[in-house]
Amino acid sequence: MRIEAVRTYLLDHKLDHAFESASMCFDRRQHCLVEIICEDGISGWGECLGPAQPNAAVVKAYAPALIGRDPLETEKLWSELYNLLRDQGQRGLTMTALSGIDIALWDIKGKRFGVPVSMLLGGRFREHVRAYATGGFRRESGDRVADMAAETAGYVREGFHAVKIKIGFDVEEDLHVIAAVREAIGPETRFMIDANHGYDVLEAIELGKRADRYGIDWFEEPVLPEQIGAYHAVRAGQPLPVAGGETWHGRYGMREPLGTRAVDILQPDICGTGGFSEMRRVADMAAMHGVRLVPHVWGTGVALAAGLQFMAALPPDPPRRDPVEPILEFDRTSNPFRQAVLARPIEHEGGVVAIPDAPGLGIEINRDALAQYALKEA
Ligand code: CA
Repeated sequence: MRIEAVRTYLLDHKLDHAFESASMCFDRRQHCLVEIICEDGISGWGECLGPAQPNAAVVKAYAPALIGRDPLETEKLWSELYNLLRDQGQRGLTMTALSGIDIALWDIKGKRFGVPVSMLLGGRFREHVRAYATGGFRRESGDRVADMAAETAGYVREGFHAVKIKIGFDVEEDLHVIAAVREAIGPETRFMIDANHGYDVLEAIELGKRADRYGIDWFEEPVLPEQIGAYHAVRAGQPLPVAGGETWHGRYGMREPLGTRAVDILQPDICGTGGFSEMRRVADMAAMHGVRLVPHVWGTGVALAAGLQFMAALPPDPPRRDPVEPILEFDRTSNPFRQAVLARPIEHEGGVVAIPDAPGLGIEINRDALAQYALKEA
């Protein structure tokens, strides 16, 4: 079995209504998919977290090292590719691009052996996961407080047991939004807040102290991800559990946050932290340090499928009769190709998502959608 070709697909859609987090404005949706094709016709799919064109450029840089190789040698290929760009790589786009490749290789391996990736990882601890609705971004216009309340109440009506909203804009305004959302979703719904590193330490501490009365499950990316010491200060200075990790890539990126216990909840993204191969090591590290793992998921149905295969194989920690189960980040923002790239969409039913059990990632790609949403390069 040999790799014949490595392809990237740049998907693009201009949104009618832009939305924003504290650190980014989304006026378009763009994602990069990776397809690795073997001589025998099997092809595997992966996705890279982050900007589509730079990711595709790095995938192309890795591609010559993959042609003619055995795709089943996932560990060997991972370490060779990592080493190829190690001196100027280590984190960032070199890792997000490598993630897309590694996921595609595991998809091939699953298809080759006729089992889902979760079985290759050691078995499925669960067939379903509860999803939490990610939304609550700031919009271009409108009344942010009323809009967020209405939006999150809608998620609860759909059956979601938990919702996450965006903060990090302004402490006073954010607190008004938080109060209105708690009122709208009722006392039982789990509620998370994500600052997308929009605050400094003093603001994060102030927000955390004053938001505590609204029953917050976790406070995500309160401060800049490079500032591990600032994470410690936020953890020490306010009562909410602190989450982060979507921008910390690979085992080395996780070493300091885990080793110094900078977060209560670690959120690696399989499409960013190095694919299945590295995500396993990161999950082991989190378990060693007793830090809860809640994977970050942001992208198309391919990213969702990869996240689900990994979550299926994540051991309960600690094991007990009714353990803490991983919950799935389920993006509810506008992205017309998110599910269109899949022949069968991965949808939630009453806030619960079934984990695909077909070989590989368990998905089939709708190539018409790839053509329909292809980025028209200038
Ligand atoms: Ca986030």
